[in-house]
Amino acid sequence: AKNKGKNCYQAYESSMATRIAEEYTVQEDLRDAIQDGELVVYYQPKYSTRDRQLTGAEALVRWEHPDKGMIPPDQFIGIAERSGLINDLESWVLDSVCAQIRRWLDMGLEVPPISVNLSAIRIHNEDLPERTQACLDKHGVAASYLMFEITESLAVREILRAVEALKRFSAMGVRVALDDFGTGHSSLSYLRQLPIQQLKIDRSFIKDLGACDGDHVEIVRSIIGLAHALRLRVVAEGVETEQQMAFLDSLDCDEVQGFLMGRPVPAAAFGEVVAQQSGR
Ligand code: C2E
Ligand code: CA
Ligand code: CA
Ligand code: CA
Repeated sequence: AKNKGKNCYQAYESSMATRIAEEYTVQEDLRDAIQDGELVVYYQPKYSTRDRQLTGAEALVRWEHPDKGMIPPDQFIGIAERSGLINDLESWVLDSVCAQIRRWLDMGLEVPPISVNLSAIRIHNEDLPERTQACLDKHGVAASYLMFEITESLAVREILRAVEALKRFSAMGVRVALDDFGTGHSSLSYLRQLPIQQLKIDRSFIKDLGACDGDHVEIVRSIIGLAHALRLRVVAEGVETEQQMAFLDSLDCDEVQGFLMGRPVPAAAFGEVVAQQSGR
């Protein structure tokens, strides 16, 4: 038994080594990818639940790897965070989004607010508000076109530390959404202290809405009630069926995002969604 334990340990050690080596390779690859323009931003539309009007979009990064094809963000955001590359990556995303908003505006489109994900690690960057303002100015884009999403799965302490930064975004006119709501350590007392305008209910609560054994209805109902009491707009994530849509409408959820209404698409395709909506 002792011997077996040792073998297991060796196997563990070598798989650790492999993982570390792999992580390092991806890290080096990603560093080049940011510089070589292999990252692209997709846009997923958001709609009002009641009348299905376009209300905004979320910018989601993808990596178009020359050999491996399209790599989803879940496979490289963590590595970017652990290696510090997240700063360059998200600066690139923000710049790309602002440049794209400018192009849409120049085309005469009625551009809705575009939400950009902000890594927990970057919220504490002292100069993030200034850098964001500089990026908006560079492209001549008003702050009201931009929104940030911060994840709720942060520790409460982390979120509270971010309050100062969030207040500066508010002062600039950039709105903030609390993402993945319900997965973290939600509590009324801290939610009240956050200068945010929108709350996004995590996909895991939406999944079984409308199913006969669905047990998340009451949770979703109370999240919406709580959010409205705090005068926040509520967005449901991961809406895939008309049944879920009907449920969310009956629960008074403000906005929906999901494959039913629209998958994330390249900028050109989203531009067409906007053009259609503006009736042009
Ligand atoms: P998220 O912020 O929760 O983004 C929503 C994710 O749900 C997206 O996955 C989207 O494609 C997916 N989704 C939307 N509607 C549906 C649906 O109806 N059904 C299902 N099954 N999925 C749906 P994606 O694009 O793969 O992004 C995954 C995560 O990567 C994002 O989760 C976000 O946390 C992260 N991410 C993406 N871009 C960035 C970025 O620029 N910075 C940071 N820090 N994270 C990013
Ligand atoms: Ca998000
Ligand atoms: Ca989310
Ligand atoms: Ca998520």
